[in-house]
Amino acid sequence: MKNKYFPVLDYGFVALKDSMGSDEDIEQAARISYGKGTRKKSDTRNLIRYLMRHKHTSPFEMCELKFHVRVPMDCWRQWIRHRTASVNEYSSRYSEVPFLCQKTPANLWRLQNVVNKQGSSGYLVEENGGEFCGKVLTEEETYLQKLSYICYDHRLKAGVAREQARKDLPLSIYTEAFWKIDLHNLLHFLNLRCQTNAQEEIRKYANVIAGIVKKLYPITFEAWYDYTFTAKTFTQTEFYLMRIYREQIYEGFEAEARSVGLSSREIDELVEKLTTVNYQDFTINIDSAKDYADFNKKEEV
Ligand SMILES: Cc1cc2nc3c(=O)[nH]c(=O)nc-3n(C[C@H](O)[C@H](O)[C@H](O)COP(=O)(O)OP(=O)(O)OC[C@H]3O[C@@H](n4cnc5c(N)ncnc54)[C@H](O)[C@@H]3O)c2cc1C
Repeated sequence: MKNKYFPVLDYGFVALKDSMGSDEDIEQAARISYGKGTRKKSDTRNLIRYLMRHKHTSPFEMCELKFHVRVPMDCWRQWIRHRTASVNEYSSRYSEVPFLCQKTPANLWRLQNVVNKQGSSGYLVEENGGEFCGKVLTEEETYLQKLSYICYDHRLKAGVAREQARKDLPLSIYTEAFWKIDLHNLLHFLNLRCQTNAQEEIRKYANVIAGIVKKLYPITFEAWYDYTFTAKTFTQTEFYLMRIYREQIYEGFEAEARSVGLSSREIDELVEKLTTVNYQDFTINIDSAKDYADFNKKEEV
């Protein structure tokens, strides 16, 4: 798995450079006192699933992964928002930027989604004979990318500093970075960036990284997939409606839960989730508030 460069988009890649830890190390960190190999695999699985379900996250921070990635700048701009990673990026102040731009084939220009204002749906027709068909947009893209790079090159030839010469390079130009993150925060990244509402370009990178995590930490990955990625939260009202639904028409619940692989404890916790409304009154009593000065009053002796 290490040093294998997985292609993403046209010139991008993801490569695992190093990793630390395993599912067993996560278990060991959680139990501290247990040595490796002294427990069965099913124990590891049960514990990791317990940790994931109850958001006991620190054992997952014991594992680290370091990647080498090449990503177009617009995608990198989203990636770099994940502040819990350590990053070392290619310096275009120090080095010349290679002419490597992400290109969009004529049939892959996505249309604006009218419902989700941040998203896209469907594709522009490649050859519709219109003024702005996919073919024309791709030709314009090629022209623009070349022109911006010619300007960059002319500035360098004229002796302009690399830090200034780069300013008109397009967002489609690729950057490279080393990106190191612990497993807990990586799963958070994947949870946001593997979802269908994430932009397709970053999702492609996230999906490759998810594949690497699945290979390295199969039990953790399965638990994350079940308890985080595909899990949903319910409002109090939805919860109430689900309870009615279950009580009225859903007999044989336990047998079915077992048949899809839930342990007794998981079933108990699920039943509790479906039957308990966790109502708490958080209304604050304004009259109980004091002035700041009240906290500094000296007790009369
Ligand atoms: C679909 C989608 C659309 C988005 N749209 C926009 C947009 O329109 N505009 C925009 O600006 N951003 C947008 N973002 C970026 C988003 O708001 C987050 O900045 C980004 O996803 C990183 O998430 P994070 O802060 O949870 O992750 P990380 O930075 O990796 O942090 C992980 C966790 O650590 C904690 N943490 C980290 N730093 C701090 C801190 N300083 N203070 C408190 N807690 C901290 C938080 O619990 C956080 O969830 C979008 C993201 C997605 C997935």
